[in-house]
Amino acid sequence: MSRQDKTHKKMLLTGNLAIELKTISAMTELYCQAHHGSKPSQQCEECAALVTHAHQKLDRCVYGEHKPACKECPIHCYKPERRKQAQVIMRYAGPKMLLKHPILAIRHLIKARNKFPDTIPDGISNYHLRKKLK
Ligand SMILES: [Zn+2]
Repeated sequence: MSRQDKTHKKMLLTGNLAIELKTISAMTELYCQAHHGSKPSQQCEECAALVTHAHQKLDRCVYGEHKPACKECPIHCYKPERRKQAQVIMRYAGPKMLLKHPILAIRHLIKARNKFPDTIPDGISNYHLRKKLK
């Protein structure tokens, strides 16, 4: 297990955000096994870096725990190169998820039907709420 794997085991996310990270991680693993020859439940350094990026972005997401699916988001908070990397992975792994991880896939399909609010909410990101608790 690489050092990066351990970092995203240290989860700061809870609830829906934790599930979303799990989904991204599972999709990245499918892609990484097929394209980078990694073993099941592992990711190469580049793929692990994407998951770490996703973890940070989910933590900071201004829509908080009940965020809709990222695809329609007006903000697009990922770094451009990470966004491209994620799109390639999603395109490959998306159709495979229903077979490999049906529960995660169905949860994502339900979430994809949610709409973004007209205004950007204030102070409800996981990061904000976490800081408030301290
Ligand atoms: Zn990889």
